[in-house]
Amino acid sequence: MLDHTIIEQFKASLRGELIEPSDERYDAARKLWNGMFDRRPALIARCAGTADVMSAVNFARENRLLVAVRGGGHSFPGHSVCDGGLVIDLSSMKGIRVDPATRTARAQPGVKWIEFDHETQAFGLATTGGTVSDTGIAGLTLGGGLGWLSSKYGLTVDNLISADVVTADGRFLTASATENQDLFWGLRGGSGNFGVVTSFEYQLHAVGPTILGGMVVHPLSKAKEVLRFYREFSKAAPDELTIYALLFNPPDSETMVALICCYCGPLDKGEDVIRPVKSLGPPVQDMLGPIPYTALQILTDAGFPAGSYYYTNGGFLEDLTDQAIEVFAEYAATKPSPLSGVLIQTVCGAARRVASDAMAFPHRRFPYAPIIASQWLDAADSEKNVGWARDFWRALHAFGGGGVYVNDLSHDDGDRIRLAYGANYERLAALKKKYDPDNFFRLNPNIKPAG
Ligand SMILES: Cc1cc2nc3c(=O)[nH]c(=O)nc-3n(C[C@H](O)[C@H](O)[C@H](O)COP(=O)(O)OP(=O)(O)OC[C@H]3O[C@@H](n4cnc5c(N)ncnc54)[C@H](O)[C@@H]3O)c2cc1C
Repeated sequence: MLDHTIIEQFKASLRGELIEPSDERYDAARKLWNGMFDRRPALIARCAGTADVMSAVNFARENRLLVAVRGGGHSFPGHSVCDGGLVIDLSSMKGIRVDPATRTARAQPGVKWIEFDHETQAFGLATTGGTVSDTGIAGLTLGGGLGWLSSKYGLTVDNLISADVVTADGRFLTASATENQDLFWGLRGGSGNFGVVTSFEYQLHAVGPTILGGMVVHPLSKAKEVLRFYREFSKAAPDELTIYALLFNPPDSETMVALICCYCGPLDKGEDVIRPVKSLGPPVQDMLGPIPYTALQILTDAGFPAGSYYYTNGGFLEDLTDQAIEVFAEYAATKPSPLSGVLIQTVCGAARRVASDAMAFPHRRFPYAPIIASQWLDAADSEKNVGWARDFWRALHAFGGGGVYVNDLSHDDGDRIRLAYGANYERLAALKKKYDPDNFFRLNPNIKPAG
């Protein structure tokens, strides 16, 4: 229990708001995108800027409070809210400044991809971002960042130029290739373990506004054929093309298999590149062609509404063998909820041409990153839906799994955290000891400070 006077002093130190359980905004403020988590923090500090973040970190440390850090609130395992303790809520920090001359952007940690894309596309620019526009830039960037521009421009972390960070001792540091280089190395894939990032600086690229994108949909009976095509085609595709495969139910429809493309190069050349995808068939629906980049960025949004129950599983695959394809087809046909699906993400082109130890994100040599996403609406159905995703991955893992994307971990994946950091774990643990020796930031895929 915190003394009332201490809470009032903390409140007075903030430019933003302090939300307590008695506040009518409390229930909305503690909700995450994933309806699985119903946690009740003691306090929510809705920060207005860096000064508030420093104040909140110092307050929590001095009062020995558990801390959760919230950016876009899309953590699959619910790390951005806690029971008791303090939520450092950055969702109001929405500043974005694009510099078209240097093709860079600075953005605060409450920004979501739809907001970021809106500002950068005004200048015909973009950087690799998430494929669901409601996701936060903060958590996604700190874990790695796979997206439609990955093959051409690398992961989101490959485009991070610098970050401002408030560390556990309340210090403000800038991390970049020239300042606090070790921290910069750890931030790019270390998923929130080293401090609260209050500003991200990104490299941008000329993209769109029109690209070739969208999806081609086939019946599930064609799943094996479509996935075999996807395997061969994705291996040979030019960097300008990023292609994913998706097994899902379109609205009011049975389960389908789709290929989703983003071609961000010259449109006339792109028509030739995507022709084989359009020629595979006949498809149930062909929605692949010239569209605004911002339209591709919201293409799958409707499939991931806030408030549903979600559970994810997945990992990296070295190859998409015929046996693995059998597993995808079998589990897609037996999912207990029509809302569930599996997205096979590709890590190709520029995203692969970075050394595994160049930064904390280690998974550069595995071309496929399937994410199995269970979604359901009734708590009574949790067991069977969680079980489906777990069994699915267990069956797939037998065909050469290696590592897991840190941002795709679930709340019960504690034993897989080391796999998420791969061979970089020991170096990260040493860094954690330097920047957060008491493991103050521990609601995350946690790196234990080196002993
Ligand atoms: C619908 C959906 C689609 C997705 N699609 C993609 C995708 O296309 N590509 C991809 O790479 N990932 C994707 N992801 C995974 C996504 O990257 C992670 O869920 C990510 O953590 C979300 O970030 P957030 O800021 O919204 O989440 P939050 O829940 O706010 O934060 C997630 C984690 O990051 C930490 N964190 C947040 N902000 C900060 C900060 N400023 N400083 C320090 N730590 C911080 C939190 O403490 C928490 O541990 C998707 C997730 C969802 C739910």
